[in-house]
Amino acid sequence: MGIIVQKFGGTSVADAQKIHNAANAVIREKEKGNDVVVVVSAMGHTTDYLIKLAKEVTPSPNSREMDMLLSTGEQVSIALLSMAIQSHGYKAISMNGQQVGIITENIHSKARIVDIKTEKLKKYLNEGNIIVVAGFQGVTPEGEITTLGRGGSDTSAVAIAAALKAERCDIYTDVEGVYATDPRIVPNIQKSDIISYEEMLELARVGANVLHPRSVETAKQFNVPLRVRSSFKLDNLGTLIIGVDNMEIYKPVAGVAADSSQIRILLSELPDIPGTAAKLFGALAKNNISVDMIIQSLASNNTNSIAFTVNEEDYPSAIEIINEVKKEFNAGEILTDKDISKVSIVGAGMVDRPGIAADMFRALADNNINIKMISTSEIKISCLVEKENANKAIKALCKEFNLESQEKAVVKGDLPNV
Ligand code: ADP
Ligand code: ASP
Ligand code: MG
Repeated sequence: MGIIVQKFGGTSVADAQKIHNAANAVIREKEKGNDVVVVVSAMGHTTDYLIKLAKEVTPSPNSREMDMLLSTGEQVSIALLSMAIQSHGYKAISMNGQQVGIITENIHSKARIVDIKTEKLKKYLNEGNIIVVAGFQGVTPEGEITTLGRGGSDTSAVAIAAALKAERCDIYTDVEGVYATDPRIVPNIQKSDIISYEEMLELARVGANVLHPRSVETAKQFNVPLRVRSSFKLDNLGTLIIGVDNMEIYKPVAGVAADSSQIRILLSELPDIPGTAAKLFGALAKNNISVDMIIQSLASNNTNSIAFTVNEEDYPSAIEIINEVKKEFNAGEILTDKDISKVSIVGAGMVDRPGIAADMFRALADNNINIKMISTSEIKISCLVEKENANKAIKALCKEFNLESQEKAVVKGDLPNV
């Protein structure tokens, strides 16, 4: 038998009873003869509470101190889950990110994992322990505590699974798997038994927050089979996320998601000369600010307008940088629109199938939803719409692409035995 990594999200360890429930799921896996490493998130809404508390102390808390604060949430959960497992008569030990040696870049609040030390993990496993690791946190080579971004415990779990060459990484959560959209928005939505890394990665990136995008990236890179499954229905296998080779794709669209955390910024009257876009986006990139959708349009007086979207967390620093660029080029106004949501459809089956974009635009138009920006990639089409229309757009698109639960399943054939 091999190593299984399990991860329990905040809702799955929200109180003492749920912690015992998680302990049962851990013990089930151990009883099958596996070595088990468990990664846990902070209990319930602890992280939200800690962020609120910090903002009450100061509106712009220092990012190092924020990481120091937020990393405490996971530390509470690991101790309690270890105690619960021990209370059932099993050997368990809790470890924080520093104790394991989860080494990250030297960036606060959204650090990437660069290395995971496996010596101590292997030693404790060999001694028969179940290891309970704090998700979401790491440590820089200099010993500074970092966090991986909201939802980052998924990435901690997959990275540990990759480092230990685990057989599988099971993400236990409050839904029964990956659905074609958030079941809170469309309750009668299809669940996938299996989905490819590529589709899941795009879905996670465009707002399906059931998985942290970097967790899927890491799973794909190291070929770690991932399962998203319910903490409360342990017999259900949930959704398996693996490489695409053995899948038959029937539907052009596998899922729909929305991201309401983007802000659109428009900078007008930039001179129409080489280098303006390079200057603007170069300055943003240097400050670690990712830009999503971009449109440049030519105005009549030899100037350009550039509109683009950034994440709301990056907005204050983005505006400072754009003001500098504006001064340098003697550009026009900066306009911002916070009332937007990016709605996307994702599907490996849309490759080489013309007409999917037109179907998406028509479905939105039929529902009187105006499109403010459009961007496409090989397996994704995104439209920026008004925030208040996001859920209406999701419902319309699920209907348009037959994603409601009474429709035919996406995949046929035998599921791989992982
Ligand atoms: P956890 O605390 O376990 O990490 P999250 O809240 O981060 O849980 O993720 C689970 C939630 O993701 C679900 O409750 C669901 O509402 C939401 N979600 C969004 N999109 C999807 C989707 N496509 N499939 C399943 N769940 C989704
Ligand atoms: N506790 C962190 C958060 O709420 C990390 C996680 O849950 O994955 O974002
Ligand atoms: Mg999560």
